[in-house]
Amino acid sequence: MAKLYIETVGCQMNVLDSELVVGSLRRQGYELIHEPFAADVILFNTCSVREHAEEKIYSALGRLRLHKKEFPDKVIGVLGCMAQKDQEIVRQRAPHVDIVCGTGQLAQIPQLVEEVKRTRVPQYALSLGRTDGGRLEVEASFESYDPLRDASMRPTPFQAYVRIQIGCDKFCTYCVVPSTRGPEQSRSPEHILAECRHLAGEGCKEVTLLGQTVNSYEYEHGDGRRTRLSDLLAGIAAIPSIERIKFVTNFPKDMTDDLLDAVRGIDKVCKYLHVPVQSGCNDVLKRMKRLYTVEYYRDMLIRCRERVPGAAISSDFIVGFCGETEQSFQKTCDLVRESKFKNSFIFKYSARPGTKADDLFPDDIPEETKKRRNNDLLSIQNANSLDDHRRQVGRTMAVLVEGPSKHGQKQSVAGPRQLTGRSMTDHIVVFDGNPRLIGQTIDVHIREATSFTLYGDVETSEATLPSPIAASPEPEPSGRIGLRLV
Ligand code: SAM
Ligand code: SF4
Repeated sequence: MAKLYIETVGCQMNVLDSELVVGSLRRQGYELIHEPFAADVILFNTCSVREHAEEKIYSALGRLRLHKKEFPDKVIGVLGCMAQKDQEIVRQRAPHVDIVCGTGQLAQIPQLVEEVKRTRVPQYALSLGRTDGGRLEVEASFESYDPLRDASMRPTPFQAYVRIQIGCDKFCTYCVVPSTRGPEQSRSPEHILAECRHLAGEGCKEVTLLGQTVNSYEYEHGDGRRTRLSDLLAGIAAIPSIERIKFVTNFPKDMTDDLLDAVRGIDKVCKYLHVPVQSGCNDVLKRMKRLYTVEYYRDMLIRCRERVPGAAISSDFIVGFCGETEQSFQKTCDLVRESKFKNSFIFKYSARPGTKADDLFPDDIPEETKKRRNNDLLSIQNANSLDDHRRQVGRTMAVLVEGPSKHGQKQSVAGPRQLTGRSMTDHIVVFDGNPRLIGQTIDVHIREATSFTLYGDVETSEATLPSPIAASPEPEPSGRIGLRLV
């Protein structure tokens, strides 16, 4: 049996793409393995959002150069955002790469692999650039890729990502996504619902709907009817064995009241909103072309919390963006202090060739300053996360149990282990329990909190509570294959 290795870097969309590529190659008889040097086909599903993510892939490719010389029949492929962005540059920097395949051509992977094996000629499969044709032509060159799944690649067997939208039309000046993933296109609700029913039939309980600006989802039917995200949530909630629905990532300007009402009104929808703001300074937001002001974002937060009482909200930030003064950075710190985000993802600005920001503005903030601002913002956020977590102590939360925590993975397989799961507000909860609980939703009484984790005790008859759990360092959900989040 031919052996396949795949390494995935980047966002949930890439994790889903890898799951689908593995599914299609498994149907061709490939066996998935976790050791690149032992594989016949070695694939890298890449990310271009920050330079660091690309450099990691080029280093990994460099480590394979001699191996490929020794075993020239092996097939090496670079897939996804970096392939679409760098195109021939991939093979200039790593001439031993056989396949360069963009995000819109992943359906062709089995044929591309066969073609390389047959001809030994390098294969390129790429979409059009955003200005290489009319809108419809460019859209058509980015196929939505959603074939049958490979359950073994999922975060867990009872959780799945479902793509509801591809591409992005926002064109934030710092971001490569509109060119690497193409124009924004919403998938038909019929296809999405069919996929969710299929997943439910396979035992999936939680679906996370994916889109770059997921809350701008809107599908126009042939007869003029429109389906919005709020309608889609209601449709998916009607599938009996789906217990939880999440959606990421939201764009602040597209957070409509009908969506917030659906989040409040539909029990199965998680009360969790990831709505990145990026900066707390209007001048910076303008240079980023984020299309809203800090005042607008603050009002949106108030609206979210009024319409969905108890909702947990999280954000993304870029520090050290072009021209970010100490004063502008302090405004971001103020926004983080007052906004009480459950958590935030904080990134140092990375200039990306081909973006407007890279053309228009010098990357003028020294690396040391970016690092310091990153740490400062992180410590403000961590203090807020700790406050938020302490408020949960004494409450009981419904937790979908995902698997052993990092600590639990090291414990003996027999008997109770430290398990981890998430609440309906996306809080990470850790507790001792019988591994039989994995995949079930159980009540956990929260006893202790750190900035990252809640610790508790199972409240059901399954409870196994020999002794209190020590707050061991930061557990994480287990089970991801070949994934490096960057
Ligand atoms: N579509 C989502 C949105 O608009 O929030 C997120 C997409 S992006 C893949 C994820 C995060 O990466 C962004 O929210 C932003 O904070 C960060 N990011 C994007 N481009 C970046 C860059 N050039 N340098 C540093 N961080 C960046
Ligand atoms: Fe990138 Fe902005 Fe689109 Fe998000 S909304 S993917 S940050 S261009």
